[in-house]
Amino acid sequence: MEFRDLKAQYQALKPEIDAGIQSVIDSTAFILGEPVAELERRLAEYVGRKYCVTCGNGTDALQLALMVWGVGPGDAVFTSDFTYFASAGTSSILGATPVLVDIDLATFNMDADALEQQIKRILEEGKLTPKVIVPVDLFGQPADYDKILPIARKYGLKVLEDGAQGFGGSLRGKLACSFGDMSATSFFPAKPLGCYGDGGAVFTDSPQEEARLRSLRAQGKSPVDKYDNREIGINSRLDTIQAAILLPKFRAFTDYEVKDVNRVANWYTERLKEKFVTPTVPEGFLSSWAQYTILLKSKAKRDAMQARLKANGVPSMIYYPRGLHQQEAYKDMKLSDEMFPNTVEATGRVLSLPMHPYLKIEEIDRVCKILLDQ
Ligand SMILES: *Cc1c(COP(=O)(O)O)cnc(C)c1O
Repeated sequence: MEFRDLKAQYQALKPEIDAGIQSVIDSTAFILGEPVAELERRLAEYVGRKYCVTCGNGTDALQLALMVWGVGPGDAVFTSDFTYFASAGTSSILGATPVLVDIDLATFNMDADALEQQIKRILEEGKLTPKVIVPVDLFGQPADYDKILPIARKYGLKVLEDGAQGFGGSLRGKLACSFGDMSATSFFPAKPLGCYGDGGAVFTDSPQEEARLRSLRAQGKSPVDKYDNREIGINSRLDTIQAAILLPKFRAFTDYEVKDVNRVANWYTERLKEKFVTPTVPEGFLSSWAQYTILLKSKAKRDAMQARLKANGVPSMIYYPRGLHQQEAYKDMKLSDEMFPNTVEATGRVLSLPMHPYLKIEEIDRVCKILLDQ
C-alpha cells in the first residue's frame, strides 16, 4: 500500500499526461510556454480570483508575496507553530521575524485567540511592527478565516494564506486560496494538486500585485524591457512541462478527486471514530485531505501503533514530529514548550494514515482492522 499513490493516478491519466509532456518537447517552449498561461487562467477562475501567477515552488510563492509587500527587518509575521517550515522560513529569509502562534487541537489550524494574544504582545513590546498573518490551511482544511480575517482588519495586518496543503478545500463554498489578500499554494507531488517536480502559485485580485509578482519571479525585470531591472527579484518559474502535467491533473482534481478523497475520509471516520480522535471538520468546511490525521492517547501508543502498521505493510507518517518553536534554526528565539501547549500535544499524538483519491474500501478496511485490533 502506498501512503499517497501517485502511480494509480498516473495510470488513470497516462494518455493525456504523456501527450502533454510530448507536446511541450515538440514545441521547445520550455519556459513560460502557452500551457503555463492556460493553467494560470484556469486556476484563477476555479479559485475565484482575478490573477494567478505560477512560480517554482510553494516556498517561493510565499516569499514572492512577502516581497511584494516589502516585508523585511523589523516586521513581525504571525504564523502557525504546527506547520511545514516554509510557512515561517520565508519571513526569516527576508529578515523579518516570524511570530509563532499555537494551534486549535481540534483542527490543527492556528488558534485565533492565541493569534490575537501574540499580536497584542508584539505591540506591547514595541520592538517589531506587526505586518502579516500567514494562516496555514493544514492537512487540506481552510484555517478559521471567520475569526482570523476580522483580527487582521482590527490590527491593520495583511493576510497571506498558506494554501500549500489546502488547495481544493473550502469554507461555505468559498475555495482555499481565495481567503488571503494574497494566497500561495504548492504543486509539490504529494500535495492535493501535485505536479511531477516542484511548482507553486500565488493568487491575488490586485493588478498591481500581479505585475509585481510577474516581475519579481523574473529577477525584478521591467514589464516592458526585460534587460531593465526595476528591483531585485528571484528566478522562480513553473516549467511548461509541469503546467502541461498539471492541466489534465487539475481536470481530474475538480471532476472527481476532491469528491473521492472525501469519500475515503468518511470511510476512515465511520470506522475509527469510536476508538480514536478522528479529524474535526467544522460545519461549513470542506477538506481536500492533504492528510488524514488521527490523534492517539499518548506518544507511546502512537509510536507503537505506527510500528504495528509498518509491520503489517501499511505506511503512516508523523506530520509533524516537532513544532517550529522547537526547530534548531529558531533556538535563538528562546521559545518554550509552555507557550505552545497544543502544538506540543499534537506532535506527540498525531498519526497520518494513507490518503489519496484512489484508495479502495477494502484497503481502508485493512488499515482500520490493524488500528482497531487490540
Ligand atoms: C509544502 C508546503 C510548503 C512549501 O511548498 P514547496 O512547494 O515544497 O516549496 C509551504 N507551506 C506548507 C504548509 C506546505 O505544506
